[in-house]
Amino acid sequence: MARVYNFSAGPAVLPEEVLKEAAAEMLDYKGTGMSVMEMSHRSKAYQEIIDEAEADLRDLMNIPDNYKVLFLQGGASQQFAMIPMNLMKNGVADYIVTGQWAKKAYQEAQKYGKANAVASSADKTFSYIPDCSDLPISEDADYVYICENNTIYGTKFHTLPNTKGKILVSDVSSCFLSEPVDVTKYGMIYGGVQKNIGPAGVVIAIIREDLIREDVLPGTPTMLQYKIHADNGSMYNTPPCYGIYICGKVFKWLKKMGGLEAMKAHNEKKAKILYDFLDESKLFKGTVRKEDRSLMNVPFVTGSEELDAEFVKAAKAAGFENLKGHRTVGGMRASIYNAMPIEGVEKLVEFMKAFEASHT
Ligand SMILES: *Cc1c(COP(=O)(O)O)cnc(C)c1O
Repeated sequence: MARVYNFSAGPAVLPEEVLKEAAAEMLDYKGTGMSVMEMSHRSKAYQEIIDEAEADLRDLMNIPDNYKVLFLQGGASQQFAMIPMNLMKNGVADYIVTGQWAKKAYQEAQKYGKANAVASSADKTFSYIPDCSDLPISEDADYVYICENNTIYGTKFHTLPNTKGKILVSDVSSCFLSEPVDVTKYGMIYGGVQKNIGPAGVVIAIIREDLIREDVLPGTPTMLQYKIHADNGSMYNTPPCYGIYICGKVFKWLKKMGGLEAMKAHNEKKAKILYDFLDESKLFKGTVRKEDRSLMNVPFVTGSEELDAEFVKAAKAAGFENLKGHRTVGGMRASIYNAMPIEGVEKLVEFMKAFEASHT
């Protein structure tokens, strides 16, 4: 068996331990004689899986009782529509546009109400987080929306915006469970799990109960109403059963690793190895303003497209996969999520040093 160092932005590396456990339980989950994939979602065994997953997530993130945890489908992108359909009471929302995912959410929201871009970092190819301490927040805004960690550009909100009392809605797809968060600062936190938690297809939404309403935008499909999913314990229809099961295993792994404080320390240590090298390298350069750097996604360039391509190719041959930057940005990007071991980053930096030595 040869596992590579997988720097994919998503779907992305998962803890080896979790994959092995899932493999061991593939044919016979805990004496049921079947795989979780083959199991009725109405069975006792499955109810335990989803209940435990929720309980462990609540524990990890310290989620208050007045927040619901929903396991949904449709990817993070489906939330771009679900959020305005469900949360726009006044039909107005403010968006902070810090990259492609925020932009897509902003554009989608325009279909359902008045979406305002109150800040953007498009002027410098989204390489920084704008100052959000005193934004022109709309008086009747139903929420303020951010993408907290910009997967493609490698920026992160290290300080949450001042929403002037409005509800904050945050897409945390690529920083989910990478460090502790204060859930009470948000009306809603959500993310696709394929970046840091599990297999693609599952989206976890953590929503304050009072925001889950019946009087959603007229015409909102049943499946796109938070209330339906909340009232049915995420089992209005068949949930993405197997995906939720893997998420549950990752939650247990995270608890065993010491929870989110420990994860944060681990992630800071890993990211520092790479950023420190980028800061001193004569060949490779980080593309993001230092104070806004993400711990999860690290984009960098050599300054030459040919050299970038050569590096990606050589890295792949040496067992470092998926280092090519996003198709719209070019260059390189190393995604170093929770499950990327420190050795992966250390070895990558060693490889980069050797590449630099032979190319300068
Ligand atoms: C990957 C990603 C998305 C899109 O996720 P899908 O599950 O493909 O819809 C949205 N937001 C962020 C921040 C992402 O990283």
